[in-house]
Amino acid sequence: MSQITRRDFIKASVASAAAVSLAGAPHIARAAGGKVVVVGGGAGGAIVAKYIRMMDSSIEVTLIEKNPEYYTCFLSNEVLSGERTLDSLRFTYEGLKKHGINVVQAEATGIDADKKVVKTSAGDFPYDRAVVSPGVSMKWDSIEGYSEEVAEKNIPHAWKAGPQTALLRKQLEDMKDGGLVVIAAPADPFRCPPGPYERASQIALYLKHHKAKSKILILDAKEKFSKQGLFVQGWTNLYGYGTDNSMIEWHPASAEGKVKAVRPDSMTVISGELDTETKADVLNLIPAQQAGTIALVSNLADETGWCPVNKKTFESTLVAGVHVIGDASSAAKMPKSAYAANSQGKVCAAAIVAALQGKEMVTPAYVNTCYSILGEDYGISVAAVYRLSEDGSTIAEVEGSGGLTPMDATAEMHKREVQYAQSWFKNIAHDMFD
Ligand SMILES: Cc1cc2nc3c(=O)[nH]c(=O)nc-3n(C[C@H](O)[C@H](O)[C@H](O)COP(=O)(O)OP(=O)(O)OC[C@H]3O[C@@H](n4cnc5c(N)ncnc54)[C@H](O)[C@@H]3O)c2cc1C
Repeated sequence: MSQITRRDFIKASVASAAAVSLAGAPHIARAAGGKVVVVGGGAGGAIVAKYIRMMDSSIEVTLIEKNPEYYTCFLSNEVLSGERTLDSLRFTYEGLKKHGINVVQAEATGIDADKKVVKTSAGDFPYDRAVVSPGVSMKWDSIEGYSEEVAEKNIPHAWKAGPQTALLRKQLEDMKDGGLVVIAAPADPFRCPPGPYERASQIALYLKHHKAKSKILILDAKEKFSKQGLFVQGWTNLYGYGTDNSMIEWHPASAEGKVKAVRPDSMTVISGELDTETKADVLNLIPAQQAGTIALVSNLADETGWCPVNKKTFESTLVAGVHVIGDASSAAKMPKSAYAANSQGKVCAAAIVAALQGKEMVTPAYVNTCYSILGEDYGISVAAVYRLSEDGSTIAEVEGSGGLTPMDATAEMHKREVQYAQSWFKNIAHDMFD
């Protein structure tokens, strides 16, 4: 018999972002046993590990995570405005241990798919099924002169929350009034499509109150971006966007926006066809991205740099028995977000439990909402429910299932979006770590 109780199941369903439909769900089958090794204890990995244990506690789950603690990227832009502390984003793995998960602090270095072993700095871990949810790695060569050392020293990307978030905040605090902050936004696809624009908003919120003569320039490798109409409207309302005195300026690729190189010593970026040079007081370069390194070295990624998967089970189409979820996976049309990773983690858990129990995986549904906080009491969001397409090739949005904050939203509605965002953060953190 499965170990899950009715109450646990209802709790799990309510907490669940991914609606795995109930008919034939794997948790009612006999206990399967077997070993699952999960690499990466973030938005995807923590969830798949926990939900496998909740669905069938006869399955042994080992979670390999290189860091002792996890800092959420979600809501980390609020640290830059001073609205939140970095510490409020910090979580430990103690809660997951209470679910009977064997949490190992180690770095995964490879996967031997023939022997079914995950290799780590703490030894080898055999598996019946492995899951890889390592997030993204940076394509350093997308910006000449940029490197991990430079990012850690004086030009943070802060696209993984932690010390670089603190460094960027400190640089903003140290900047003179009248300074220029330059944010370089990457080409698609990348982690958190609205993230750079929320970041610009949060930095503007800080500058408006503390250094009102300062400016933010977003140099973009793209022509358009997520929730653009809503961001522009918000910037117009809050930061004078479009006027001579706008705090935020946005340059698309066609207006010299694509950053090609950086000179770290002089804090200068070179962008566009004309090699336009811009000297900044604070530079935040977010390079182009690809799947996390462990996915690349384990041959899970294709020529795009992302990992193709069977979208019903998230099993790799390149390496049998290994599943890839979260940012590293090619899960179009879901964006690379924590909510998407959470949803995929639940679908993947159900698929693995079904496989180990010798059952058919049910047809899953998936969900995502991305909130962005633009200012005090001013939030926006985009939401969607997704289903597997008939031929299983894409995760398609269910028509009319979600949508954007309306363009004619009232002040009260924008305020509520902020409350929803804060509540979403509490719920997803609880789902991952308690
Ligand atoms: C500024 C910013 C704001 C964001 N805001 C939002 C938001 O509001 N809403 C939202 O839904 N999403 C948001 N996101 C996106 C979200 O953070 C990611 O999409 C999400 O974390 C992806 O989950 P993941 O499991 O793929 O990767 P992660 O959550 O990054 O987890 C990966 C884990 O794997 C570990 N790891 C990697 N390699 C190894 C290895 N070899 N061995 C052991 N461990 C390893 C890492 O240490 C990490 O803990 C934001 C991102 C940023 C940068």
